[in-house]
Amino acid sequence: MGLLTEGSFLSWDQAEKYANHIRKHGITQFLNVWDRQKGRRDPFLWGDEIEYMVISYDHEGKNARLALRQSEILDAFHQLVQDTCANKAMALPNFVPETSAYMIESTPGTPLTGSLNDLLSVENCMRHRRSLLRRLLKSDEALVSLTSFPRLGAGGVFTEPHYEPSTTEPHHSLFIPREVVGPHVRHRAINENITLRRGSKPPINIPVFFDANTPQPFFDPTIPPDLSPIDAESILPDHIYLDSSEGGFGCCCLQVTFQAANVDEAKRVYDALIPVGPIMLALTAASPAYKGHLADVDCRWNVIGDSADDRTQEERSEKSQQIPKSRYAGNYSYISSDFNNRNEHNDSSMPYDEAVYEQLINHGIEEPLATHIARLYIRDPLLVIPETINQDDANSIDHFETIQSTNWQAVRFKIPPPNSPIGWRVEFRTMEVQLTDFENAAFAVFLILLSRAIVKYGVNFYIPISLVDENMERAQKRSAVTEEKFWFRKDVFSASTPPPSQTHTPTHSPSAKKPSLDAPAENTAAVALNAVSPPWSQDSLSSNVSQTQYVEMTVGEIINGKGEVFPGLLGLVNAYVNSMDVDQGEKQKLGKYLDLIKRRGNGSLCTTATWIRNFIRAHPAYANDSVVTEEINYDLITALEQIENATRRANDLLPEEYPEWVSDEASTNPIQSA
Ligand code: ADP
Ligand code: MG
Ligand code: MG
Repeated sequence: MGLLTEGSFLSWDQAEKYANHIRKHGITQFLNVWDRQKGRRDPFLWGDEIEYMVISYDHEGKNARLALRQSEILDAFHQLVQDTCANKAMALPNFVPETSAYMIESTPGTPLTGSLNDLLSVENCMRHRRSLLRRLLKSDEALVSLTSFPRLGAGGVFTEPHYEPSTTEPHHSLFIPREVVGPHVRHRAINENITLRRGSKPPINIPVFFDANTPQPFFDPTIPPDLSPIDAESILPDHIYLDSSEGGFGCCCLQVTFQAANVDEAKRVYDALIPVGPIMLALTAASPAYKGHLADVDCRWNVIGDSADDRTQEERSEKSQQIPKSRYAGNYSYISSDFNNRNEHNDSSMPYDEAVYEQLINHGIEEPLATHIARLYIRDPLLVIPETINQDDANSIDHFETIQSTNWQAVRFKIPPPNSPIGWRVEFRTMEVQLTDFENAAFAVFLILLSRAIVKYGVNFYIPISLVDENMERAQKRSAVTEEKFWFRKDVFSASTPPPSQTHTPTHSPSAKKPSLDAPAENTAAVALNAVSPPWSQDSLSSNVSQTQYVEMTVGEIINGKGEVFPGLLGLVNAYVNSMDVDQGEKQKLGKYLDLIKRRGNGSLCTTATWIRNFIRAHPAYANDSVVTEEINYDLITALEQIENATRRANDLLPEEYPEWVSDEASTNPIQSA
């Protein structure tokens, strides 16, 4: 993404006129890529994305504010690169603007390989990125990888510089000033056009956490009395209320992308990671406070879902059920043509664009993938840049990406850009960002090893999409890791239903390569195209065979295994690691990461969300009323910074040895001083 700060975009009433043009050319662009690149083979490569918030402290007033300094910091970074690194053969990291003017995203300068060495180097790479950015901060500023800022929109002073929200313009937030929106054209366009397309600001209602002194019923005290009727009817009692896409998009996350060997492998791992999405969301939960209040959820996911919801009243009406999900939501369907991807798993009622579907099928795209693309294509473009409306469809995928990149699903299937060495990729998007790079590295490495194990053992994780949706809701609840159960596949080594001509005897030891279940693409989706329901309709979930294939387990069981049959995701990862050539030192370092995952899973270490919630509730200024004051927030952000730099211990969140590891790394890491 380039720095298109100055660019202009079309406001929704103008953009709408180009929606069909963009969709039409987007599909042509996809098909051009398909024709040219469907047979390509690539090495395994991967990379992470970490998002940070820039904080500005007012030490005297005991306030921690969001510093709206994205542009200045990124400009300074580019200057620094020119001045100091122009002649050095260094792989510099990438820094890009994220949605809000206080957010910055970092990625490795070049993707990493699947070698153990690269896996184990990612933590250093992350630290290097963080330290480079820190050099560009003022003395009273800090950089934190925090998922939700507890006082965004809470009134008082929560940004630096301070701005007042608009009280007169109906399309602007009553709580978040428009200066909070990042200056990049993409972010301005998305923010404005979500509201314009929807016909009203996107309401975000986050359940409040009821503490001993929280008023019951709870009415968000920051809401002004003289509301317009449309604002008033959006507000739910017992909820924290926000009214801007910044409320959700202003949250940070941790994402991991990998390049598959070929398109079939990408589709297969994409599918397998869909049921993993909610589990990793629960495990990485890090956002228990919004707009000056403790919430009854630990995660950002639905908050962004609401903030991205550009559906019109008719589209989202429960009665008509035209479009059941926001464009930021869990996946609608699986995409692999493997035998294990059965009709019964694809039970979502999401509509699809029939013309797009037919065009793709007529072009030879298999039904699962055609359905997926046709579902993305029910959406309108939010970002239309006048200069890029006419494109060379043989050499651009910008129109395809306009639709794809504003369908924010839990897992994303990414296509190769034309004329580039980049292949078929999968992006895993549910994880909340962690405070330390040790944790971020642990989660990234775990996810990458899991994706390798999925390929190696050909595991079958399919469960119905409706159960994944249910898991997604459960994952966000307060203390979901210890309090909730999640649907998962009971026997991950067996076929979905017995193949007609094959007697399959599964074995349960994950240490051996399992019988390959990925039989050559057999098109299982034989249901005729129907005007209302998608080709894979809700047809066979009632079968007893199917139902017994899915069981409810705790996150601990899903991660660490249950009984003889279920090895746990960590069991699969360990089996994969045992099959690699690993020396003692490497094993030790990997062990630290995998141990963190194990302990977060079994609850012996708490989630970041739990740590933050406990800190707030134990603060001397906390009145047991769910309110996170400026002072509490100031002490919290200070404490989070200290945890990261290991000047404060948090033995309930991190392994006891974490502070020693940080000082060891700092003394042995050559790139810290680069
Ligand atoms: P997006 O903007 O869609 O989120 P980015 O372009 O920021 O995606 O890249 C996401 C991640 O993909 C980064 O960590 C980057 O290092 C990584 N990446 C880049 N090229 C490849 C590749 N060929 N294979 C795998 N990962 C890649
Ligand atoms: Mg990002
Ligand atoms: Mg991304």
